[in-house]
Amino acid sequence: MSNQTGPLDAREHEQLRARLRRDAARLRDHLAGVAMSRRLRSSTPHPERADTDEDLRAARNALRVRRALDGTLAALRRMADDEYGRCVHCGEPMEARRLRVEPTVTACPDCERPDRDPV
Ligand SMILES: [Zn+2]
Repeated sequence: MSNQTGPLDAREHEQLRARLRRDAARLRDHLAGVAMSRRLRSSTPHPERADTDEDLRAARNALRVRRALDGTLAALRRMADDEYGRCVHCGEPMEARRLRVEPTVTACPDCERPDRDPV
């Protein structure tokens, strides 16, 4: 039985690692697809399409995916360094429940409060 409120157990840690790896692969594929379609489009003369809202949306979406990938890779690095599941600010173990919802989270709720003094 996995506990609902404590830190991650080893099995859940492995499950999250597998999930983060899958996410990283998916996000990489997505970015590769975006790059590909951009190349295809720019090689086809479509001057009326330059700087359209669609391009802007695609660029914003690519940035969002890029950030998600960065966060996912950072989480995998913390796992490799045996630091995963701890708040990067105070070092306290974070609850498994929180990590399951958001596996790339880096800070505990206390440290994430916006009124907190910056480190
Ligand atoms: Zn903290």
